[in-house]
Amino acid sequence: MTKHITHWIGGKPFTGTSDRVGDVYNPATGKVSGTVDFASRTEIDEAVAAAKAAFPAWRDASLSKRANVLFTFRELLVRDSAELAKIISSEHGKVESDAAGEVARGLEVVEFACGIPHLLKGGFSENVSTRVDAYSILQPLGVVAGITPFNFPAMVPMWMFPVAIACGNTFVLKPSEKDPSAAIKIAELWAEAGLPEGVFNVLHGDKVAVDGLLEHRDVKAVSFVGSTPIAHYIYETAARNGKRVQALGGAKNHMLVLPDADLDLAADAAVNAGFGSAGERCMAISALVAVEPIADELVAKIKQRVEGLTTGPGDDPSSDMGPLVTGVHRDKVATYLTSSVEQGADLVVDGREGLPQGDGFWLRPTLIDNVTAEMDCYKDEIFGPVLSVLRVSTFDEGMALIDANPYGNGTAIFTNDGGAARRFQNEVEVGMVGINVPIPVPMAYYSFGGWKASLFGDSHAHGTEGVHFYTRTKAVTARWLDPSHGGVNLGFPTNG
Ligand code: NAD
Repeated sequence: MTKHITHWIGGKPFTGTSDRVGDVYNPATGKVSGTVDFASRTEIDEAVAAAKAAFPAWRDASLSKRANVLFTFRELLVRDSAELAKIISSEHGKVESDAAGEVARGLEVVEFACGIPHLLKGGFSENVSTRVDAYSILQPLGVVAGITPFNFPAMVPMWMFPVAIACGNTFVLKPSEKDPSAAIKIAELWAEAGLPEGVFNVLHGDKVAVDGLLEHRDVKAVSFVGSTPIAHYIYETAARNGKRVQALGGAKNHMLVLPDADLDLAADAAVNAGFGSAGERCMAISALVAVEPIADELVAKIKQRVEGLTTGPGDDPSSDMGPLVTGVHRDKVATYLTSSVEQGADLVVDGREGLPQGDGFWLRPTLIDNVTAEMDCYKDEIFGPVLSVLRVSTFDEGMALIDANPYGNGTAIFTNDGGAARRFQNEVEVGMVGINVPIPVPMAYYSFGGWKASLFGDSHAHGTEGVHFYTRTKAVTARWLDPSHGGVNLGFPTNG
């Protein structure tokens, strides 16, 4: 028996009317576990129409009513977080404890959005002119869309919709077709929380669904998270269609280890950040930059830890790391192991060896040493359990390497030298920086986003930048009738 995953439109499941569907896999078995409807024009129009119809009442719902629904949603999410983690693990492959972590980080954004009455306060200036007041109001945009990647099927959508909905918008989510069930579970929780029908909708599908949203005249803003080529396409296409857009792209995250660092701490951090979620994290460390003379010692410590990792099914508590998301992706990642050796690197731990039994999409953690900036395994975002070590002679050489990379999502420095850390934080051309912290994902009340090819647009996700993205400001200048004012004057208004 395989499952069938439908859209969610107007507060209820909505079975696709086209005959286009996609297969959903259990990555640990390699078997198809279900099918998901792919939207055609009909469903795209249905979803946007439902969101548009729900907008007038939701934008006028009181701030306390909106906050109340969010508080209830938060309670339900906490109640069902273990179930949601199981759903994520079964389609993505990551271990359940890691999936629970992603739900917890998404929950933080819901909690941030519960404070929406405070976040939507505008400004007020009395007597900008005599007995004239001026004030600003933050208003929602209307129907907004979110297009999200496979690697965080709950957390990344939760970077978007809690803030968008709290601000009074209505939302159409187009989740990844590879692991679509988490979005439906979330939709059910919204319904149980009392969110009015049509405020949150889920539209499944591929490029057809995405393009339909990008071109739809009733979609006012688009938030995207995914790979850089698609992020760039989304940014250009949505902007051409007159929409507000934020498009977060791919990454190549460097960890710079200085000779004075605690090498055991650095080795632990490199392994956790390199191989957690099989390296399928936009904040994964994929390039470790060792400032000599520590590279040999550090590589030996990492190798020892990597060899102790257990790769297995996500629902087995003894697994440290699960399979990759699809067979196609696993095969692509494996090509970098071959090319790295061909191009002169040293394969210290080969993840193609000692794989678990069965047809799951397996690749074990891989460690490559003596990588250079010209090699494919460095130039490309691999998005798998592959950690490359590059050796440099100085701090400046390491900084130059990081800044020359086209991506600028996250980075980390490991050192006990406060001056070096401060210089790194000040100068590095990367949007999110960790100091002895390998995966510096900002808390919900800060904003998430990289620089350079890791983000197109000017707003990062969640935090106050999220509120800014999902609202537009209206400035009002008001004067109540006063007999002392009046008369005809064609001059430009000044503040007399
Ligand atoms: P992806 O770009 O393939 O897909 C992302 C979304 O775009 C999906 O919903 C997909 O259906 C849609 N899509 C795919 N191809 C499309 C096309 N040609 N036209 C229109 N829409 C299309 O990304 P993915 O493989 O699902 O996710 C992994 C990528 O996401 C990695 O590059 C990773 O770094 C990135 N990512 C970035 C961040 C960040 O915050 N910067 C966070 C998570 C993931």
